[in-house]
Amino acid sequence: MAGLYLELVTPEKVLVSQEVEIVVAPGSLGEFGVLPGHIPFLSGIVPGELRFTADGKTEYFAVTTGFAEVSENKVSVLVDAAERATDIDLERARRAMERARQRLSKERGEPDIDFERAQAALQRAIARIRVAEKVK
Ligand code: ATP
Repeated sequence: MAGLYLELVTPEKVLVSQEVEIVVAPGSLGEFGVLPGHIPFLSGIVPGELRFTADGKTEYFAVTTGFAEVSENKVSVLVDAAERATDIDLERARRAMERARQRLSKERGEPDIDFERAQAALQRAIARIRVAEKVK
């Protein structure tokens, strides 16, 4: 069977562009895995862990928000931001989590855009911390 190709892209750069054996990604409806021969498929991506295995080795990334398209044995993942696990600045992520928590602990007005932003920032920070701690 033909191999599977993964592209992980942000507006800033291409983080991954290579053949892989399997991809597991954080979809908006839950984690999903893609093997060669997968049916065409579209999904939102939410902050979490994306991993792939190539040559028997698994690599881990933190991703934020975006979408994924699976077609013709190619997985394209486009997200606002992504980092290889080993490139994550854990202290920075912890600071971002603390800031977000502080904002969320304040009284909530209606409508409150800052509250939504803080929630999204918290999700990004948690995803980064989980992924970074996994490879520590
Ligand atoms: P912060 O408040 O720390 O900037 P953020 O969630 O607002 O966090 P993003 O807007 O998601 O950050 O990302 C902005 C850029 O910074 C992206 O290029 C992203 O890859 C990078 N980045 C964010 N947090 C980290 C981190 N903890 N370690 C490494 N790179 C990071």
